[in-house]
Amino acid sequence: MPVTREMFNDVMVPNYNPAQMVPVKGEGSRVWDQAGKEYIDFAGGIAVNCLGHCHPAMVNALQEQSQKLWHLSNVFTNEPAIRLAKKLTDATFADRVYYANSGAEANEAALKLARRWAIDVYGEKKQKIIAFTKGFHGRTFFTVTVGGQPAYSEGFGPKPGAIEHVPYNDADALAKLIDDETCAVMMEPLQGEGGVVPPAQDFVKQVRELCDKHNALLIFDEVQTGFGRTGTLYAYEQLGVTPDILTTAKSLGGGFPIGAMLTTDAIAEHLKPGTHGSTYGGNPLACAVSEAVFDVINTETVLEGVKQREALIKEHLAAINEKYNVFKEVRGKGCLLGAELTEQFEGRARDFLLAGQEHGVMVLVAGASVIRFTPSLIIPEEDIKEGLKRFEQAVAQVVG
Ligand SMILES: *Cc1c(COP(=O)(O)O)cnc(C)c1O
Repeated sequence: MPVTREMFNDVMVPNYNPAQMVPVKGEGSRVWDQAGKEYIDFAGGIAVNCLGHCHPAMVNALQEQSQKLWHLSNVFTNEPAIRLAKKLTDATFADRVYYANSGAEANEAALKLARRWAIDVYGEKKQKIIAFTKGFHGRTFFTVTVGGQPAYSEGFGPKPGAIEHVPYNDADALAKLIDDETCAVMMEPLQGEGGVVPPAQDFVKQVRELCDKHNALLIFDEVQTGFGRTGTLYAYEQLGVTPDILTTAKSLGGGFPIGAMLTTDAIAEHLKPGTHGSTYGGNPLACAVSEAVFDVINTETVLEGVKQREALIKEHLAAINEKYNVFKEVRGKGCLLGAELTEQFEGRARDFLLAGQEHGVMVLVAGASVIRFTPSLIIPEEDIKEGLKRFEQAVAQVVG
């Protein structure tokens, strides 16, 4: 049966509005659509395809595991799940891992754990969760309510309670709101969906201090920043602050769905048998692929390479801006970069994305006025150059 983009409109729930072309094949940082047109991929499946498309290490891991064992449920454990957990705990502050299938699910687990921990240790009154305006933590009802964009959580009836927000990078506002009834503060160590907003100098340290003062857990949502994206395995390593709970997904599977929550022994013990779970969490296929991704990513070569790519992309974007004067600021870290448009182009990020597609380059937006770049962590230099050449053509078209 021939498949067309038009069919999407007939058979799919209309919550998405995908591009007019349908991609059919990817290799490294290049993608082809049904018509055979080639695209340079700076979107990376929204910061997921950290090794590009069909990386041989991932293909091999998936093929090998697919001939051994696909699924068991958590009635049994499996070798890839344990091996990956050992690698994740050896490489981070954490002692223990809980597996999920997505970022939202990892965050759901983190939030439920924080509440359970607080109730067990301090009693029923310690329930308040504080998060940040424009933060994004997923689309389950709990996580979307903790997220800082009310538009996403409204219109579904009563929301989970005891959740409050303060502006990102405003330590004073947090200091006013946090108290001994706060069980957790959840934050991204660099806001992704909210516009690629880095933390201000010392902000994260101030958040950590306030959490310590009030015995609240600090949860880092590293779903987007994690797994090498900012040039270290996790972004917290560069901030001089260690969270109590960390969530990771997106790049963790490099394109195979998996999420995880990492925490310490003392906190983990509050998720006793029966308190939480997932049928697919720790699925051997997902864990085998993730392990292969980890082995490639967690090396000096790749992590240093991320910083070089950041410099190269920023340099090219600055050159484009010299000519067209479209960006107010280019910011972000590693392979998570955002170009905020000047007032003249405010609200038009999507026009640049669409023009990019026309010219054979995939980019993302982060809100209405920020163009986001989240390419593969190992994107070749020639693909960066070619992709930005195409992006420049797109800019020229929009500027007119
Ligand atoms: C994408 C994202 C999520 C949600 O992940 P899903 O896999 O879509 O559920 C949560 N937090 C952050 C910071 C994200 O970028």
